[in-house]
Amino acid sequence: MIIGVPKEIKNNESRVGMTPAGVYELVKNHHKVFVQSTAGEGSGFFDKDYLEVGASILDTIEEVYACSDMIVKVKEPVEQEYSLVKQGQVIFTYFHFASSETLTRAMLSSGAICIAYETVEDSDGSLPLLTPMSEVAGRMAVQQGAKYLEKPKKGRGVLLGGVPGVAPGRVLVLGAGTVGTQAAKMAAGLGAHVTILDINMKRLRYINDVMPSHVVTEYSNEFNIRKHIQSHDLIIGGVLLKGAKAPNLITREMLKLMRPGTVIVDVAVDQGGCVETTKPTTHEDPIYIIDDVVHYSVANMPGAVPYTSTVALTNVTLPYVLALANKGWYRACEEDEALHKGLNIIEGEIAYSEIVETFGWEE
Ligand code: NAD
Repeated sequence: MIIGVPKEIKNNESRVGMTPAGVYELVKNHHKVFVQSTAGEGSGFFDKDYLEVGASILDTIEEVYACSDMIVKVKEPVEQEYSLVKQGQVIFTYFHFASSETLTRAMLSSGAICIAYETVEDSDGSLPLLTPMSEVAGRMAVQQGAKYLEKPKKGRGVLLGGVPGVAPGRVLVLGAGTVGTQAAKMAAGLGAHVTILDINMKRLRYINDVMPSHVVTEYSNEFNIRKHIQSHDLIIGGVLLKGAKAPNLITREMLKLMRPGTVIVDVAVDQGGCVETTKPTTHEDPIYIIDDVVHYSVANMPGAVPYTSTVALTNVTLPYVLALANKGWYRACEEDEALHKGLNIIEGEIAYSEIVETFGWEE
């Protein structure tokens, strides 16, 4: 198979869909790999590194799409790429269709086979290709939140760890999945008081077992959320309803309950956010303020630490890329239930019912 690795063109996205280690494995399996020139530079991988392991370098993104049976990338195609996607081409990347009807319609009309990293799902319900990026984003959420709590950054002026004689900052984490667990771990490590909410009692039991006693679990409901947003300095949104729009757990009206300078880091922004006032931002312009509440909602947080993120992502995508290349998409998906769940669009047809429900389309 011919596999193409284009350079990401989304704002401030420096990750790349494949490392030289991945190209090495594909070439070893007798596949041809075209990498767009400088695609890996932002992650510290140079054209010569790809050439050394047998890739061919192409100058333009148009050539990469035109030559390839399968495109392996990181973020969803942006508008400029829509017309490059070909009928019957496999696109293996993060799509997050539920957050963009425009993207969904563009991919439907392209006739491509869209396999979304974020819906590849193991039999235990875990999402193996979302997990490493959620780990990065969860850990980063605390780092970013701590920064924006500083007064010059428009925050409350609270040091998360406190100091002797001063109570530590308070961090409220919505969702005790991968993002929430990693965020709670980092916040607790800094010495903050952490409250973590979920509707899944198994997750709360797990957190309760493994975290120190200054991480407190509570059931997620409107009453508890209304109560806690009044006393917490940093709120981290890490909820997920698989493949669907995130629920609005904090409404616009609830912002008035928060103290001025409270910071919200809504990691769930890529699924529409769990705060009504969330809108996607970029690393260049990451925050905005509504009712004196600082909102940080960068849709590609791991893009800021591209080396860590690229290696973490490609560690887990490579086995699937190899299966798709070796067997073709149809057999690879038939033989692997987890990969089958990644099928979102097949040649103009929706293959993932939650997308239809999200947009209220007729089945
Ligand atoms: P996950 O499935 O591991 O965890 C989600 C948790 O939310 C689950 O434990 C679930 O029970 C819980 N939940 C569902 N409804 C809830 C509710 N009403 N109240 C409280 N908890 C509720 O998912 P994850 O891997 O942690 O990802 C979370 C979100 O972060 C996803 O939308 C993901 O796409 C996003 N994400 C964003 C970035 C970014 O750069 N912005 C990076 C990685 C992941």
